[in-house]
Amino acid sequence: MNTFNITIIGTGYVGAVTGACFAELGHNITFVGRDQKKLDLISSGKSPIYEPGLDDLLAKNQDRISTTTDLVGAVKRTDLTFICVGTPSQDDGSIDLRQVEDVSSVIGSAIRSSPDYHTIVVKSTVLPGTTEDLLLPILEKESGKKAFIDFGLAMNPEFLKEGSAIEDFFHGDRVVIGSNDQETSSILKALYGSLGVPIYTTTMKTAEMIKYASNAFLATKISFANELGNLCKQIEIDSYEVFQGVGMDTRIGPHFFRSGIGFGGSCFPKDVRALIAHARTVGDEPRILNAVIRTNDDQPRKLINLLKKHVRPAGRTIGILGLAFKPDSDDVRESRAISIIMDLLKEGASVVAYDPVAMENFRPLFPGITYAKAAGEVLDCDAVLIVTEWKEFEDLNYENRIVIDGRRIAKARDEAAIYEGVCW
Ligand code: NAD
Repeated sequence: MNTFNITIIGTGYVGAVTGACFAELGHNITFVGRDQKKLDLISSGKSPIYEPGLDDLLAKNQDRISTTTDLVGAVKRTDLTFICVGTPSQDDGSIDLRQVEDVSSVIGSAIRSSPDYHTIVVKSTVLPGTTEDLLLPILEKESGKKAFIDFGLAMNPEFLKEGSAIEDFFHGDRVVIGSNDQETSSILKALYGSLGVPIYTTTMKTAEMIKYASNAFLATKISFANELGNLCKQIEIDSYEVFQGVGMDTRIGPHFFRSGIGFGGSCFPKDVRALIAHARTVGDEPRILNAVIRTNDDQPRKLINLLKKHVRPAGRTIGILGLAFKPDSDDVRESRAISIIMDLLKEGASVVAYDPVAMENFRPLFPGITYAKAAGEVLDCDAVLIVTEWKEFEDLNYENRIVIDGRRIAKARDEAAIYEGVCW
């Protein structure tokens, strides 16, 4: 197997996982970050984010891992650079590409004076055409070199799921390599080949679209399950039983049918909004995608409305179980807990919240609410809302409680004195 020297730019969810997993495969990794504290954590074998198994991989592969804030130096010392920086939403939903543009410009200037062939791989989620039409010209301008002759360039979208990201890296459904030249494709095939995961090669633009189409489809499946779940609730049918039956159809499949309070996180909402905004730039108004976002935006309100059937929030203390956007992650970006807590505070309630790992990330958003030391404390509130399906919430004692469940915790359903499921 070839051993590569790889620069990873960005030590967030994608960068930290990608770098640690490539180190596990035997490659030498230089993490480039802006936050020295996060780099120090990585250098001491600890993960800067909560992701199961990541601490172990970083600790185990310390001899192949180094960290720096010096991007130019890192690029010059390595063969490959993975861009894993953020591509957040702007206020109008369109994508903010400043981080990828900035690092492309620095990478370009770094390869200008280097005699070695360097391959740049865009892993950040970027809209179709971004790598070819925006980043390639920046790289060529800053380096004074020609792409695919003097340096390699590829778009390699990331499909990891937070909470099972390491498993997804080693046993993913596919690796997509978008490149416009054979040389770059073969380098990436050599890099990923040992995983035994199917590799799909295509153009950069198509690779970019595959990522958006995948996320848009999964988001659509969730909003579809929620729209039908809302109807099921009205007509007293358990939507979980419905989708169990539906998912047995191999044309449809069982995944992403967990109806509830909708999707959050750093990908689905931002990527669907970015795709909508992009479609508009070419005169297209995507009807399905707009509906996906609208359904998702409305979904957390259902939980509050069900609560109000049983308890008037004003002057009451409402407990929140779960703040992360999904279990096994400390990521609170676009978590459903945000709009739910905002609504509760507006209604005049006090809030006591608990999450096994995400409270530190959540606290700056709502410094004024109470953060419980243990999940059990939340159960003492006047009513409890279940917002994230952490496994430990399956072990609580819900007897004599009022529970409004956005995520289907079986024990709460069995035990609570008053129980409402959002779509069942
Ligand atoms: P993140 O915000 O957790 O991490 C991005 C990191 O890049 C941050 O640590 C930031 O400090 C760093 N960074 C930005 N500019 C830098 C610079 N000039 N030098 C060094 N570091 C810099 O984001 P993320 O969740 O890891 O996502 C990264 C990209 O991958 C996004 O485009 C996202 O859409 C995509 N993606 C994310 C996931 C996911 O589950 N989180 C999955 C697939 C794809």
